[in-house]
Amino acid sequence: MEKVAERQLEKWVDHTRIYANNGKVADYIPALKRQNPEINAAAFLHLDGECVQAGEADYLFTIQSVSKVLALAVALMNHGEEAVFSRVGKEPTSDPFYSISKLEVEKPSKPINPMINAGALAVTNMMSGKTSDDMLQEILEFVHQLIADDTVDYDREVAKSEYDSAFLNRSLCYFMKQNGIITGSVEELLDVYTKQCAIQMNVKQLAKVAAVFANEGKDIETGEQVIPRHYARICNTFMGTCGMYNQSGSFAINVGIPAKSGVSGVIMGVVKDVGGVAVFGPALDNTGNSVVGVKLLEIMSRSYQWSIF
Ligand code: GLN
Repeated sequence: MEKVAERQLEKWVDHTRIYANNGKVADYIPALKRQNPEINAAAFLHLDGECVQAGEADYLFTIQSVSKVLALAVALMNHGEEAVFSRVGKEPTSDPFYSISKLEVEKPSKPINPMINAGALAVTNMMSGKTSDDMLQEILEFVHQLIADDTVDYDREVAKSEYDSAFLNRSLCYFMKQNGIITGSVEELLDVYTKQCAIQMNVKQLAKVAAVFANEGKDIETGEQVIPRHYARICNTFMGTCGMYNQSGSFAINVGIPAKSGVSGVIMGVVKDVGGVAVFGPALDNTGNSVVGVKLLEIMSRSYQWSIF
């Protein structure tokens, strides 16, 4: 497949900046309100190691819901498929990512999938560490291993801001605790979850994470299988079916690659056997996806024929 050219990527990043006017920066997490909607960045890491980048590629953002994929990979490696899917489902949903309604309707009342908040909270509850610090450390160490960079940390201010205002996520947790889906302290779980969402990266680092998933779980430099192949495939499948919230269907039609977005305005994309892509632009559409990011990925996918369909 044709490689992503840096000159071309720079043009597209410049060209798509204007689309930020069609969206709005997330404001339900107070600290995210301060993000500058004009920032726009993209990076693509080819599996041969060549990285191309454009825009504010060093800018650090919080990965938010992209962390759901990472926690899922860790939970699968900790407990195996059967245990994980006894507590979270595998089906897409047309409900928003923060929705609580299906928890009451579904029998058993496990969350629909691990890419919505309820499912992600149930997954984070499966970290093996005893304390919330250990649980967070487990996720951070996994990230350090994936990108061979142990400087990655979380943004204290964003984590605290979300923790202090996470009334809906608290409700999801208490509902699931009542039904035996999660165990232990809800406050400790929220502490880990809000910190995992506040993990900070730039697009180059996140493209590296994506490249591991594009390489079926193998480190692109060493060839080491850092995520068992089958588990990497499960994560890719969830990204493909549920990764863009209740816009996953149209994203599959218009872009056609496994991808995961976060409310900071980030999207991580997996171009199987080619490389990993990360795009960032904080203005969101009404489903919570970056308008600039989606536009950019549409253009890239069409130009390089990325769609897996
Ligand atoms: N931390 C955010 C939340 O739980 C993540 C959601 C998202 O990125 N969609 O609300």
